[in-house]
Amino acid sequence: MEPVLVVGASVGGATAAETLARAGVPVVMLERDTSRIKPCGGAVPPVAFDEFDLPESLIARKVHHALVHSPSERTVEIEVAGISRSNDDYIAMCCREVFDSYLRQRAVQHGATLIEGQLTDLVFDGAGVTATFRERFGGARQQIRASAVIGADGAYSTTAKLLGLPNLPRCVAIQERIRLPAAKMARWEDTADLYLGAEVSPDLYAWAFPKSDHVAIGIGTGPAHSKRARELLANLKRRLHADLEGGEVLLEEAHALPMQPRQHMAFERAMLIGDAAGLVVNTSGEGIYWAMKSGKMAAETLVASLPDVSLAALRRYERQWWKSYGTMYRFLVWLQKWGYGNPRQMEVFTDMCRNQDVQRLTFESYMHKTMTPVPWLAQVRMTADIIAAQVRHYLPRRRTQQPAVA
Ligand SMILES: Cc1cc2nc3c(=O)[nH]c(=O)nc-3n(C[C@H](O)[C@H](O)[C@H](O)COP(=O)(O)OP(=O)(O)OC[C@H]3O[C@@H](n4cnc5c(N)ncnc54)[C@H](O)[C@@H]3O)c2cc1C
Repeated sequence: MEPVLVVGASVGGATAAETLARAGVPVVMLERDTSRIKPCGGAVPPVAFDEFDLPESLIARKVHHALVHSPSERTVEIEVAGISRSNDDYIAMCCREVFDSYLRQRAVQHGATLIEGQLTDLVFDGAGVTATFRERFGGARQQIRASAVIGADGAYSTTAKLLGLPNLPRCVAIQERIRLPAAKMARWEDTADLYLGAEVSPDLYAWAFPKSDHVAIGIGTGPAHSKRARELLANLKRRLHADLEGGEVLLEEAHALPMQPRQHMAFERAMLIGDAAGLVVNTSGEGIYWAMKSGKMAAETLVASLPDVSLAALRRYERQWWKSYGTMYRFLVWLQKWGYGNPRQMEVFTDMCRNQDVQRLTFESYMHKTMTPVPWLAQVRMTADIIAAQVRHYLPRRRTQQPAVA
């Protein structure tokens, strides 16, 4: 049997390749450069560790609290806890060089072949697909014959381009890893921070995600402001000046994130997963879990359909994805526009984060990836709080009363 070709051996590609290899399907992972570290905040929900059987050694730090800072520096502290509390209530902070290489090696251990090279061309015919790639070492052009292709090659997906698909709208995210003196690091011992405000991100948010020996400070912003990314990061560092004093920049990293999922992710003999399919969540920029989940789902669809790799067979992946997650994506697209629309709305968003029902439901769905039905009393409480915050921040400011002149 001809192998399945997986383009890109990061979180999504390695998960797809491992799923295929475990099912006995021959698979080749083609990765442009295994030494490159994927720019990333590295926040991963606990469900990923259970679902993909990941060891805790991949976690650089577990955090149990989140701080949300409004544009006017009002701060809300939130405990990381779902609807029913458990020991599994945390956010895992991971370093991608460790995380990705573990997944890649595990796929190889299960039988996937790893080739270092850059995909440059795909030619589909009735019997399969011929892929051309440039070897990483030496640059020789090589070809490989495959039964089908999974495009796991990220936000600038060559696979998507070669399938004739348009670019997705992208935001840009930039971060610095900063090593801090131990006394300063204590500030982030058990906390990840989100910062809102036009000066750090006019349309998304900025973050401080601690790892074992450093804190990753970053900002994300949409296409309208992407040229200002460095300036926004500098503003964030100014805002955190006292907390970062004495720090040493270890690494600066930047990359694009897709802002919109592709309507179609399955084609004749080809599927797209992860960032290549635009499966990042708008509100949070979360993409690691979704790349792994889509990689697994796409590979399982292939395993169930092979040797049939027709469009009808592969579309099952796409249908299953949208049936499971369509509502969640639509809600979060709306939430991003509503919550990060302008500085006043960011203040309303911060107030909304004070509501305990909002906190529990947000972390329940983040940590466990389940859409939980909301009890009616909680719905009433949340709606009332949101309306009150909306009114508070949009009412004209009251003037100080002047004493009447006699
Ligand atoms: C600054 C920043 C912070 C982020 N923070 C978080 C976070 O905290 N939590 C979270 O969940 N998500 C975060 N994300 C998003 C997350 O990084 C991505 O959603 C995730 O990495 C997508 O995985 P993927 O496997 O689809 O693609 P990628 O991880 O982008 O991997 C694509 C792979 O394909 C390879 N490739 C590309 N082109 C070719 C080619 N032509 N031939 C061969 N190989 C190729 C690349 O080298 C790469 O290894 C962040 C993103 C950025 C930019």
